[in-house]
Amino acid sequence: MSAVVAAAGLLAGARRIVVFTGAGASTDSGIPDFRSPDGLWTRYDPRLLGLRRYLADPGVRRLAWRLRRELVAIGARPNAAHAACVRLAAQGRLAGVITQNVDGLHTDAGLDPALVCELHGTGRVVVCLRCGERAPMAAALARVEAGEEDPPCRACGGILKAATVSFGERLPAGVWARAEALTEACDAFVVVGSSLVVRPAAELPARAAGRGVPLVVVNREPTPLDGVASVVCRGEAGTLLPALVDALPPAP
Ligand code: NAD
Repeated sequence: MSAVVAAAGLLAGARRIVVFTGAGASTDSGIPDFRSPDGLWTRYDPRLLGLRRYLADPGVRRLAWRLRRELVAIGARPNAAHAACVRLAAQGRLAGVITQNVDGLHTDAGLDPALVCELHGTGRVVVCLRCGERAPMAAALARVEAGEEDPPCRACGGILKAATVSFGERLPAGVWARAEALTEACDAFVVVGSSLVVRPAAELPARAAGRGVPLVVVNREPTPLDGVASVVCRGEAGTLLPALVDALPPAP
């Protein structure tokens, strides 16, 4: 906890904090991350979910729909880390949350959607890879439940995919530009539950540190940026982030 006290001291004067979340911010909600010892990559080959194979192989798409059903069946609810971000906003200190997560839990927790930058898209929507038609994921999953193993687009018959950024896809330009702008304008940057190995997302905390603003890393395991971080809080996001936010004095 002494790291939390040190981090609170560094953030005490900050009014434009960026919180950058990864899959580790949602493991307390029951959603597995990718790279932990019990993460999704222990059960699924990451190469299977690359865009090229998704387009080429109906077997890969059936696997992806099974995985989506499995994730929705968890019935994930926001946890204490998401709630802490809402309190940080209420304190008038939050410039925005840049999230790599596609689970929608920051807004479910009550954070203003205008404050959330979903870098890797959303798993709540499906998009047709041919005509671009978008539809709710829940409706597509209902079709899978009803027996369509790989439901096609209702508008054009094209291949449907979650509106998330797959391996091999570029980040949407507008979303990346917004994340860069938040990073350039922030007066502190807090990483929560990310291995910081997925690029270009992981460039953002490195840039913030390069600007000389405090960089705080809250993570269970070491990250490649621990060496440049101002403070590393090693441990559970659901404990440490609330403790950090609650230790901040009234906003200046
Ligand atoms: P990652 O799996 O690479 O790393 C997660 C990190 O969080 C690990 O370093 C782990 O030690 C740490 N961690 C796990 N649980 C924690 C906890 N309770 N408290 C503190 N630390 C914890 O995840 P990443 O860096 O976000 O990158 C992987 C990609 O996976 C992202 O692009 C994201 O889009 C995607 N993803 C999203 C979800 C989701 O939406 N919830 C889930 C899995 C993967």
